[in-house]
Amino acid sequence: MSPEDLKALVRTVPDFPARGIQFRDITTLIAHGQGLAATMDHLVAYASKADVAAIAGIEARGFIFGAAIAARMGLGFIPLRKAGKLPVPSIGIDYDLEYGKARIELDPGAVDEGGRVLLVDDLLATGGTAKAGAALLRQAGAVVDHALFVIDLPELGGGNLLRENGIEVSALMQFA
Ligand code: IMP
Repeated sequence: MSPEDLKALVRTVPDFPARGIQFRDITTLIAHGQGLAATMDHLVAYASKADVAAIAGIEARGFIFGAAIAARMGLGFIPLRKAGKLPVPSIGIDYDLEYGKARIELDPGAVDEGGRVLLVDDLLATGGTAKAGAALLRQAGAVVDHALFVIDLPELGGGNLLRENGIEVSALMQFA
């Protein structure tokens, strides 16, 4: 299936989580067996070009795609977790969302000093989440210069923000 076919499997939910927002929902994409397999094929093709030693994913939907990419490539997976979930001493970073604030945390022992890590999430909007994820990985000693998403919303500027921070961006599909 082509990225265009896969785009047709993404459900758009109006007015979620707030009025006026068109939520792009990957639930319908991952529920489709062939669609999920093809999505993984395309993501692994992008990830293989990035020459990395590990894959990091952002909780929760970044885990679905990131862990599957890592398994397919025989690489380790590094979870960037929501606050308070890790059972070991962790490092964390607070960041702004479109509505409100959030925090992600990382076990620094999961990162090899100087190791190249590909950051994965389901969707890139303003880029605040991915920027925070890259900063946290870098704080732990990783080299992060590539991020991979299923969906990019280019009008929200996330791609530009990440590029300004030295991160090349790839995405399977875009929604205007
Ligand atoms: P950003 O920080 O503004 O780039 O928002 C990206 C983060 O919010 C990602 O972790 C996404 O999972 C989530 N997100 C924002 N908008 C959407 C959407 O329309 N659909 C699904 N996830 C979204």
